[in-house]
Amino acid sequence: MTSFELPTYADVEAAAARIAGVANRTPVLTSRTLNELAGAELFIKSENFQRMGAFKFRGAFNALSKFSPEQRKAGVVAFSSGNHAQGIALSAKILGIPATIVMPHDAPAAKVEATKGYGAEVVVYDRYTEDREAIGRRLAGEHGLTLIPPYDHPDVLAGQGTAAKELFEEVGELDYLFVPLGGGGLLSGTALSTRALAPRCVLYGVEPEAGNDGQRSFRSGSIVHIDTPKTIADGAQTQHLGNYTFAIIKRDVNDVLTASDADLVSAMKFFATRMKTIVEPTGCLGLAGALNMKQSLKGKRVGVIVSGGNIDLERFCALAAV
Ligand SMILES: *Cc1c(COP(=O)(O)O)cnc(C)c1O
Repeated sequence: MTSFELPTYADVEAAAARIAGVANRTPVLTSRTLNELAGAELFIKSENFQRMGAFKFRGAFNALSKFSPEQRKAGVVAFSSGNHAQGIALSAKILGIPATIVMPHDAPAAKVEATKGYGAEVVVYDRYTEDREAIGRRLAGEHGLTLIPPYDHPDVLAGQGTAAKELFEEVGELDYLFVPLGGGGLLSGTALSTRALAPRCVLYGVEPEAGNDGQRSFRSGSIVHIDTPKTIADGAQTQHLGNYTFAIIKRDVNDVLTASDADLVSAMKFFATRMKTIVEPTGCLGLAGALNMKQSLKGKRVGVIVSGGNIDLERFCALAAV
C-alpha cells in the first residue's frame, strides 16, 4: 500500500506535450551486426543524442515547466555532479529560471564548467564531511527555492517516460525492453509507457553488479539501502530506489538484472566501433543486460534504451584500452 498518489501514463502524455519542440526526438538505431550477434531484432533508443547528452533533460524540463510564477521567480535548486545537474541547468536557462546546483568539491572540472556554461550558480560542498541533501534543503528554505530531486519526483519520472513512449510509437510493440537503472526515474517512467502501449512486453531494469540494491529491493519487496557502489557506471551509483519509483517498479517491471563493469566496457566498445556512437558506461547497461541473456531472446523484437553519452574523451580512451 502506498499513501501517496502515483503518476500515470496520462502524466507521461502531458509531459510529452510540454517537452515537444524543446527536447530532441532521439533516433532509434538498428544494426545488422548486432542483430546477428544477438539472434534477435534490436531497436536502440539513443538518448545519448538528447539535449545535454542524456535523457535527464526530459524529466528536468517537465518538472520546471510546471513551476508557478512564484517558483519561477525564486528559482530551482538541485544536488548532483552528473547529468541531472546539466538537465536542470539547461532547462532553467531555457525557461528563464535561476538555478543553483550543489556539487561535490572534487566533481570533474568539465562537469562544473558545463553546468556553469548553462548559467547555473554552482555551490560546492565537501562530500566527505557535508551532506548535500541538507545543503540543498537549507538553500531551498533560506531562499524559497524549489528542490528538484534526480529521480524520486512524479514530474521527473513522468518526463523520463517520454523516451519509451516515442520508442513504442516509432517501432510498435516489443517482446522485451531493457532499461538502465539507478534511482529508478527512467525505469519507472518507462514502465508507465510500457504498460500503456505494449502491455505484454517483458520489461527489465539493468543495474551495475556492484550495486544491486534495485534487484534486492525488487525481489524482497522493500527498498534496500547500500553504500555507494564502486562501478564505472557513475550515473547509477545510487544507494537506494525512491518511494515513487519503487512503487511503480514493483508493480509494473518484470525483473531487475545486473551487468558487470567488463560487460559495460564491451558494450561501449561495440557501440563505438560497430555503430559509430559514443555511449557512457551507465548508458550501456541496457545492451549489456540484453546480451547477457541472448539465449532467451532468439527471434524476438527487443528494445534497449541507451540513457546517455556524457564521458570525457580521456576517460573513454582509458576504458577502451583495458
Ligand atoms: C541518471 C542516469 C541513469 C539512471 O537513471 P535513474 O532515473 O536514476 O534510474 C542512467 N543513465 C544515465 C546516463 C543517467 O544519467
